[in-house]
Amino acid sequence: MALKKYVYFFGSGKADGSGKMKNLLGGKGAGLAEMTSLKIPVPPGFTITTEVCTLYYKNNRKYPKELNPQVDSALARVEKIMGKKFGSAEDPLLVSVRSGARSSMPGMMETVLNVGLTTKTIPGLVRKTQNERFVYDAYRRLMMMYSDVVMEKAAGIEPAEGEGIRQQLEHAMERMKKEKGYKNDTELSVDDLKRLCEEFKGIIRRTLGKEFPDDPREQLWGGIGAVFQSWMGKRAVSYRKIEKIPEEWGTAVNVQSMVFGNTGENSGTGVAFTRNPATGENVFFGEWLPNAQGEDVVAGIRTPNPVNEAGKTDDTRHLPSLEEAMPSLYKQLFAIEKRLEKHYQDMQDIEFTIEDGRLWMLQTRVGKRNGQAAIRMAVDMAKSKLITKGIALLRVKPEQIDELLHPSVDPAAEKSAVELAKGLPAGPGGAIGKVVFTADDAEGWARKGEKVILVRNETSPEDVHGMHAAEAILTARGGMTSHAALVARGWGKCCIVGCSELAINLHKKEIHVNGRVVREGDWITLNGTKGRVYEGKLKLLPADPEHNQWYKELMKWADQFRTLKVRTNADTPNDAAVARNFGAQGIGLCRTEHMFFDADRIRSVREMILSDALEGRRKALAKLLPMQKGDFVGIFKAMAGLPVTIRLLDPPLHEFLPHTDQELTELAGEMGVPFERLNAKNKSLHEFNPMLGHRGCRLGVTYPEIYEMQVQAIMEAACELAKERVKVIPEIMIPLVGHVKELETTRDLTVSVAERIQKEYKVKVPYTVGTMIELPRACVTSDEIAAHADFYSFGTNDLTQTVYGLSRDDAGRFLPTYVENGILKEDPFITIDQEGVGALMRMAVEKGRKVKKNLKMGICGEHGGEPKSVEFCHKIGLEYVSCSPFRVPIARFAAAQAALKKKAK
Ligand code: PEP
Ligand code: MG
Repeated sequence: MALKKYVYFFGSGKADGSGKMKNLLGGKGAGLAEMTSLKIPVPPGFTITTEVCTLYYKNNRKYPKELNPQVDSALARVEKIMGKKFGSAEDPLLVSVRSGARSSMPGMMETVLNVGLTTKTIPGLVRKTQNERFVYDAYRRLMMMYSDVVMEKAAGIEPAEGEGIRQQLEHAMERMKKEKGYKNDTELSVDDLKRLCEEFKGIIRRTLGKEFPDDPREQLWGGIGAVFQSWMGKRAVSYRKIEKIPEEWGTAVNVQSMVFGNTGENSGTGVAFTRNPATGENVFFGEWLPNAQGEDVVAGIRTPNPVNEAGKTDDTRHLPSLEEAMPSLYKQLFAIEKRLEKHYQDMQDIEFTIEDGRLWMLQTRVGKRNGQAAIRMAVDMAKSKLITKGIALLRVKPEQIDELLHPSVDPAAEKSAVELAKGLPAGPGGAIGKVVFTADDAEGWARKGEKVILVRNETSPEDVHGMHAAEAILTARGGMTSHAALVARGWGKCCIVGCSELAINLHKKEIHVNGRVVREGDWITLNGTKGRVYEGKLKLLPADPEHNQWYKELMKWADQFRTLKVRTNADTPNDAAVARNFGAQGIGLCRTEHMFFDADRIRSVREMILSDALEGRRKALAKLLPMQKGDFVGIFKAMAGLPVTIRLLDPPLHEFLPHTDQELTELAGEMGVPFERLNAKNKSLHEFNPMLGHRGCRLGVTYPEIYEMQVQAIMEAACELAKERVKVIPEIMIPLVGHVKELETTRDLTVSVAERIQKEYKVKVPYTVGTMIELPRACVTSDEIAAHADFYSFGTNDLTQTVYGLSRDDAGRFLPTYVENGILKEDPFITIDQEGVGALMRMAVEKGRKVKKNLKMGICGEHGGEPKSVEFCHKIGLEYVSCSPFRVPIARFAAAQAALKKKAK
């Protein structure tokens, strides 16, 4: 039987592995193998597979016995290519030992450079390089890295904060620089470095109780072991948890011949991207430093120079580019980056080193990019036929589309900002403003030209004017479908909810949060995409999708590929117009209760609810009728030619009730009833569980006159417009149906009113009557319900609430803990719970279509704008999704990806 292969060699144009073997060789190892096969100059080396890492942990931290001889033979091949020997006193080979997992885990794992430097090999290297300073500098770097990574971390030693071996050695170096009056490391002389290396050995011995190893093999195996150990290191374990990287993937180890960018002015090192990762522009973009090692570019101690003239800015104009300093090497690098991008068909992030005028490539990988850059690159690459339109669409993440639609907090500013608290990211984008605590203050301050952020424990419909005036909304309570979240998303406003760390003192107008106090008028910044609150005023980057030709092009392609239609949830003509501009193909949900909250209407609504007799209710409804009709006229006009689903009244009655004695007294006066009677009636309407109480069609069943008025308003508006030759397509929707009889009754009422109005107006308007599917019982009895419905719209907010038995208004207090602990992978109010809620949806679709083959179905819960849920809706055969106006582009895009993914399967 052939021996199991644990070591993959690469060098001199030949590689055992390839770019396709990421799982076995890790990202870095696969990239090195692929570049080698492409005949790109890569220092020779070998990769120890991720399988060894897994076996190592399985077998009580022991390597498989085949490993040692395979490492030896790969090392011999490296020696042959380099013409040097590992451990040789004459011409020693030095190697680097680096980790490399399947997906990159930046800064999470370990690297040791210059392995192989010992008292025996040093003189040989000095002779060869004629550069004693360089050799001793490399030796002190090896000691610093090795003692830290191998002798301390991998050995499981946990020193007190600031007392790690690396810090101790750094202090020793700083002491020497101070003593000598040096500012930079480069001023250290050969003698200084020699003395420093001896001092380092003493510190290591005293601190770790062991000698720094003077044997090259011991160094090599120490380095390999440390990389494997680091897979289980604290940083790596917590990073894996966050990024959901499975433990069993393991890391590979790359051992590679060292090349040095710090041997003199003819050397250097750099990092570059084949396109600009911040703008997406198709220009080679990067940074380099002459006479430096890789860590110098990354560490930020020296300001790197631009790699080429095109990358110069006003700040870097004076710095020498590689293009100027080493033109022929630059040309070679330029040709390589072009080849790499073409080969990988994606933007690459590359690392290179120049040693004594010779170029070496150390890494290539797919480069990270922001939203704007991702969109531009995808479109440019498809247009130049590097990739297909389908791949371009799949390559951009839906969140990256979202990034483009909102101003965002500048990531550079965010890095150094003081974080006050974390909450749920309810409305994406960034905002800055002064803290205010009431809706009236928000409106008043905004009127005076102030930018404000409205901070509340939670919001209610009475806060809407302040929410509108504010730049952003921050609440201490509530979940992703709370009032604040729904309203903010509807307007595309930045919003963070469920920020439980905030202790709001409304009386004193201050917030206590993690030991700090934020007062009224203090500036704060919200990152609503991540759910982070910061102290002060951070820089914002503006949004401008209309002037972004790449975004517009990509969205055009998305519309060509998708089959799902995208509608919007909108309650005002303005929202409808905004959504139509974003590409909405109709209204999927118009929540009529939102129209009842206007200051001049709420009184009539209260009058209606609190009237004991039908007569009183009808009187109040008559006042509301013309107002509702006006709303519908506006919305139908804004959506002319497209379907508009109007939902009859839904929310719990108590939301409309007066809260204060003063309000009650005024109302009693107006209605001509005694205060006590009204007060008693008001109290009697109190509900213990309003979400499961007197709401939805239960209102229509008990107070049919409310629905009657609403249907009349809808149909009068529609008939009037039809006479003016405006094309209206009303779809009347009955909410919260659990039993078929509820639908039957309310439907009969709807139809009779609709027919009467058409007769009165002497005009025919095609209309349909459907229902929301938002209760488990409706899903299970969908075959009965379908017979009485022209369409279904899944209300997944309530369906999630009722399937899980989880109050949508209270879940924000504990669901984040569930997600953090991994009990739930995702918040079910954000992403559809496919196994539970989704299974019921499937059942409703199947049972419904059995009875009515062409039953139109869509979704209007908040999930309608969430990419994974959109994909699920596509899979189960819904016809459309409906979401808040600012999510329409993301939904269109996600729908295209869903279609492409299904096709690929
Ligand atoms: C739903 O329940 O999913 C829905 C859209 O209705 P609402 O959020 O208004 O209850
Ligand atoms: Mg609902």
